[in-house]
Amino acid sequence: MKLKRALLKYFSIYALLTLGWLLANYILQTASAPKSQATTSALFIHILIFAALSTLYWLLALRQYDKQKNLQQADAQISLERLKLALDAGQKGLWDWSLNEQQDVFFSSTYCDILGFTQQEFGNNQQAWQNRLLPEERERIYRNVTRFIAEGDGNYDSTYRMLHKDNSPRWIRSHGRLIKNAQGVPVRFIGIAQDITAQRGTEEQLQQANAVFESTHEGVLITDHTNTIVHINPAFSKITGYSPEEVLGQTPRMFKSGRHSPEFYQSLWSALEKNGQWSGEIWNRRKTGEVLPQYQTIRLIRDENGFVAYNVAVFSDISTLKDSQSELSYLAHYDQLTGLTNRSQLYERLKTSLRTSIEQEKDSTVFLIDLDHFKNINESLGHSLGDQLLQAVAQRMAKILKNQSTTLARTGADEFVVICESINTPEKAAAMAHYIIQETKQPFTINNNQLFISASIGICMYPRAGSTAEEVMRNADSALSKAKASGRETFAFYSSELTAQALQRLRIASELRQALDDNALELYYQPVYTMEAHKLVGGEALVRWNHPERGLIPPNDFIPIAEENGLIMRIDEWVLRQACMQIQTWQEQDLPLDFIAVNISSRSLSNPNLPHTVAQVLQDTGINPQHLELEVTESAVMDDPDSADKTLKDLRKLGIRLAIDDFGTGYSSLARLKSLPVHKLKIDQSFINNLPSDIEDIAIVRAILALGSSIGLEVQAEGIETAEQMRFLQLQNCALGQGYWFGRPMPTEAFTQLLSDSLTVKA
Ligand code: C2E
Ligand code: MG
Ligand code: MG
Repeated sequence: MKLKRALLKYFSIYALLTLGWLLANYILQTASAPKSQATTSALFIHILIFAALSTLYWLLALRQYDKQKNLQQADAQISLERLKLALDAGQKGLWDWSLNEQQDVFFSSTYCDILGFTQQEFGNNQQAWQNRLLPEERERIYRNVTRFIAEGDGNYDSTYRMLHKDNSPRWIRSHGRLIKNAQGVPVRFIGIAQDITAQRGTEEQLQQANAVFESTHEGVLITDHTNTIVHINPAFSKITGYSPEEVLGQTPRMFKSGRHSPEFYQSLWSALEKNGQWSGEIWNRRKTGEVLPQYQTIRLIRDENGFVAYNVAVFSDISTLKDSQSELSYLAHYDQLTGLTNRSQLYERLKTSLRTSIEQEKDSTVFLIDLDHFKNINESLGHSLGDQLLQAVAQRMAKILKNQSTTLARTGADEFVVICESINTPEKAAAMAHYIIQETKQPFTINNNQLFISASIGICMYPRAGSTAEEVMRNADSALSKAKASGRETFAFYSSELTAQALQRLRIASELRQALDDNALELYYQPVYTMEAHKLVGGEALVRWNHPERGLIPPNDFIPIAEENGLIMRIDEWVLRQACMQIQTWQEQDLPLDFIAVNISSRSLSNPNLPHTVAQVLQDTGINPQHLELEVTESAVMDDPDSADKTLKDLRKLGIRLAIDDFGTGYSSLARLKSLPVHKLKIDQSFINNLPSDIEDIAIVRAILALGSSIGLEVQAEGIETAEQMRFLQLQNCALGQGYWFGRPMPTEAFTQLLSDSLTVKA
């Protein structure tokens, strides 16, 4: 093409030069000489050739021009087609806005198609476009366009919403530029528009997903197909304590807690492979090493060819859930108002306790405590105060029972249950029930109100009165009904017999207290003789209770009750003082007496104050301590040998005599016996009863006597009722004797008489 154009150019120059030369020749020849025919012909031929060449040239040039024009037109058409194709392929619509007065706009068919219209429907002016803008955005968008045209610089790029024919909004991205004339005045505004609704949706989704990824409280971990960690989110770092730098490039194995077996992981991976997903509880470790329970969902992401591209693990920290599970279990087992064990947990404990009791063949006790007339408090003072009272009652009960191995539960509005394994006799149960009732009676101060309440208690001892938890509770409940029926503020056993006994004991306890105050106790004295010469050498002070209705009550009927409720300490001290005062009297009367023995209960023996009390009494009465003998039972000593040993040593320092009562029943060891600072062993009367026929008792009595003489202790036999018993003991060289055969316990006057009689005999 270029070559042709060059040839034509040179040929044209040649033709012009030739034509110029011919014309010059012709003018010169015409001026200088007449034209010859030949010259004229030659000239004419030249002119013809020139004309022909020129014509040819112009024809060629014209053809070339046409060809070129056609080619250009074809090129333009192709370009236009290409542009159209490109625009169509990209779903881009063309718009071309003439900025003349008519403001007509060309909207390509694709443009109109984007919005669901044909070109005819859409229209071809600026108003047509404006009408399809979202009404609420119309003014703003149009203002932006007019500003752009006015400013006239740069590229226009705007995203806005237009209404589709179906009235749904579509996101349109429009970009274009101004075409200006030679004077720089914008004449057209041209550009393309694209529906980006879907893209925008995806973008929005991605943005949302990213926001979720970044802000979710769930940890997210993404691994690639080699199980290398490629991404984690901030929550992951927060939960595990690992920063991205510490985990990216690693494998999730670094979080293993060691709590799961290899089989666990195998089943996880096979579930993932099979279902593309796994969910479950998994225990990993935080950076601190702390075990982290997680609920994890792992999903496989495959590429278009079906190969695993990523694993996405999303997990939540369920340690708080675990905590709340334990909280739930707390709620399931404890009463919310008082924090005490609730009914379901109580039954569990009761079942366990029942099993133990059956195995160990010993009784335990359930107390079912119901507050009397609690409903009245709720109704008159309101439920809030009622609740506070229940809390206060619960606290008080917990305090009462704190030294016992018990379960304290609240099983109903105003119903409490105590399981007490250490309470294994009706006596102890009655004492405990009484104590609870007395304590509940004490006023409660709530919100400056003094509230009074009483309790009724149903008692069931198991397994004797119930072999299943349900039965025990049922029986406790029927015992409670009995207690309520008998006027409330009292207790009842399931068995009426026990109730009667227990109530009797309680009555005795309260009367005994009164008796002490009223000085209604009395001392009897039983004489003690030497076995050899039957000489009266001393006596044992034995307490009696002078009951206004029941007459003289023997100690076995009230001493055990006094031991249970602690009154025994007062009794022992009273007896001691009384006996010492009597010794003093007899001494003043010059009556012959080596000693008076006073019984000391195990509770008094375990009281560290005992030596002090004795010293005080000795001092107050002024007697010679040698005349006082204290009897402690072998079992009391053996209960707590070390502390007994210490107390006995302290007592001995006071110069008094010490005897071990009921010897032979307490299983004391010889080693222990040797070290005890006592003077005397009193053979328990159970070994004397069957003398001299029972071979075993004979052997025991002989052994005790041998023991006494080998460690230098005096031996006294008690409960001698017959002459045979007396003679046998005499033959065995028993030093002292006491029993009905010698004399029964007798009132002071009688004993005084005995003493003076012995003086007479002696004289
Ligand atoms: P104990 O200290 O072993 O007293 C001896 C008990 O045997 C006395 O019973 C006495 O009356 C009884 N007895 C004496 N000779 C015979 C006999 O030949 N045959 C029979 N069957 N019994 C005989 P008592 O007075 O009823 O006292 C019972 C127990 O009560 C005493 O046993 C003692 O453990 C306790 N006791 C009595 N008085 C007191 C006291 O003032 N303080 C304390 N702590 N306990 C006392
Ligand atoms: Mg005694
Ligand atoms: Mg005795």
